Amino acid sequence: MKRRLTLHFPREAVHQPITYRLAVDFDVAAKILRAQIAPNQSGTMVVELSGDIDELDAAELWLERQGLRLNRTRSEIRVDPAECVDCGLCAGVCPSGALAFALPQRRLSFDAARCLVCEQCLPHCPFGAISLALDPA
Ligand code: SF4
Ligand code: SF4
Repeated sequence: MKRRLTLHFPREAVHQPITYRLAVDFDVAAKILRAQIAPNQSGTMVVELSGDIDELDAAELWLERQGLRLNRTRSEIRVDPAECVDCGLCAGVCPSGALAFALPQRRLSFDAARCLVCEQCLPHCPFGAISLALDPA
């Protein structure tokens, strides 16, 4: 699964090889989406972490122990009913059951409360009906 985080680095943590340690110690891949860190100053980095849920939890704990402050960048999945043709393809890849396809009615339903925002459904919709909203209002 994937998680987006904003990492706030204190000055003393700026030189730590964070992405290397996440990969080697926790088997968590970190994709840097945005970074603003000046040498010997505090900084901010937006990362997308990929890994198993337990490893992600352990990695987040470790980051906090290194003195970093973590903000979970809010994001949510949206399904556009105007574009959806109820083909059911996305429901087949959803690990949480947030996307479900009811057979008698042949209708897709989306339960946002169950969604892990893992994004597995995004590339599976042939009609572009699923999107990811970052920092939704
Ligand atoms: S983001 Fe993941 S959990 Fe959420 S609806 Fe898509 S596949 Fe399901
Ligand atoms: S894959 Fe796209 S069109 Fe098909 S049910 Fe899911 S959201 Fe609707």
